[in-house]
Order: sequence, then C-alpha cells, then structure tokens
Amino acid sequence: MSNKRKSYPAMIPPVIQYHKIDKPTSGTLVRGGFTPPGRFARQLSFLKKRGFVFYTAVGLIEYFMEHNRFPENGIAVTLDDGWQDNYMNAFPVLLALGVPATIYIVPSCIGERSMKAMAEGEEVRAHRSREQVLEMSGAGIEFGSHSLNHRLLHQLPYQEIVLEVEEAKRQIEELTKKECKTFAYPAGYYNKQAQQIIAGAGHIAAFSTTYGPLDKLDLYALNRIEILRRDRFRFQFARKVEALQSNLDR
Ligand SMILES: [Zn+2]
Repeated sequence: MSNKRKSYPAMIPPVIQYHKIDKPTSGTLVRGGFTPPGRFARQLSFLKKRGFVFYTAVGLIEYFMEHNRFPENGIAVTLDDGWQDNYMNAFPVLLALGVPATIYIVPSCIGERSMKAMAEGEEVRAHRSREQVLEMSGAGIEFGSHSLNHRLLHQLPYQEIVLEVEEAKRQIEELTKKECKTFAYPAGYYNKQAQQIIAGAGHIAAFSTTYGPLDKLDLYALNRIEILRRDRFRFQFARKVEALQSNLDR
C-alpha cells in the first residue's frame, strides 16, 4: 500500500446520491432521505434529456484514473444503505430507463430489518435480500461497500476499521462473485486511517457525502451531490446537476 496517493486539482465528482426511494409513512419524523419513486423516475429522465451519460461508480472512477478527468457529461447514480425499497421502487425505473447504478450495501444487514443504518428519529426498515441483490447484480446494478455494520469509521480503533472494511468487501464479493471496488463511508465520516485501510484493501475510491476536500480531488474522499426530499421541484434538482455540466465543459 502506498501512502503517497496522486493528487488532483479541485473538481466536482459527477456523482449523485440517494437513500430511500419511497414515500415516507405518516409517522416518519426524518424525511430528508426519502425520494418518492415517481420523482426518482422524473429526475433520471431529466438527466437523460439533458444529455448525461450514465456510468457505474467503478466505470466513472476507472475512466478518471485513465484520463485524469471525468467523462464528458458522465454521471453516476448511487444509492446508500441497501434498502429493500431500492429493489421494489428504484430497480424497475433503472431497468426501464437503462440506467446503471451503484448501491452501497451493509452486508450484515442483508435480509434484515435493522437499525444499523438508521439516523435518529427514523423507523426500522427492511434491507433487501440476498436473492434481490443477485437479481439486481445480474441486471447490471453494481454493488459497493458501505462497511460491515454501518459504524462510523472515524470513531473506531484501527483493528475494527480493518474488520468493517475487509470483511464487508469479502462478503459482498462472495455473494455477487464480482469484485467490490468502491466504498461509501457510513454517514460520510472518514479519517486518514480509514482512507489508508480502504485503499490497502483494494478499493479504487471511497465516497463521502459533503465532507471531502473542496480544494483538491481525493479519490478516497469524494464528495457526492445529495438529492434530498426538498429537491422536489425540477429547478432545484436542475441547479444541483447543472454544476456538473459546467464542471465538465472546461
Ligand atoms: Zn448509510
């Protein structure tokens, strides 16, 4: 493992991030992470009409590593946590529009109703099953690692970060029979140690949310554009993604 990673000038990684593709139930207090299925479909259709070309996270990063820039009009759609609603509600939209996506899963939650990936105030939800992961993987959906137990890595001792990172990668690869090459930090938190362990385990990149550096591009602390419930209006969504096209026009 090399500690001397290549450094790149500042650019906005053309990666958007979703969580739950569903309508919140009336009792849900924390609604920011919900995108209703119809809106998800409209947002992706809008990107297609605007001429964006969809990549998986790995496809996008490998392009970047080869060319030192992101592909023109390239964009990657990512979904965190591996909720079952992604299978029920997002998967049909992705298939219908021919959009590949990358889903960051927590292997210890597969097939469970678990609190591990919940924020405070959220309700327990179902994660997708092994069979659903395999069906999606077979249809071209990419699976990345969101750690073994969704623990906040910057708070953990070295050996526990190693377990969270290495065991998650091993379990995902065992299930999908495909290499798991990218990582998304639980809640976006990372530190130097976590970055080094993730790189050392063989991941080519790791995504944060908005905590990555803005003055340069760090492949192990990539920011993503988070699509939230408040982005319900087309113009709000458009403003967020337009930054990507101007970024790429340079
Ligand atoms: Zn998460």
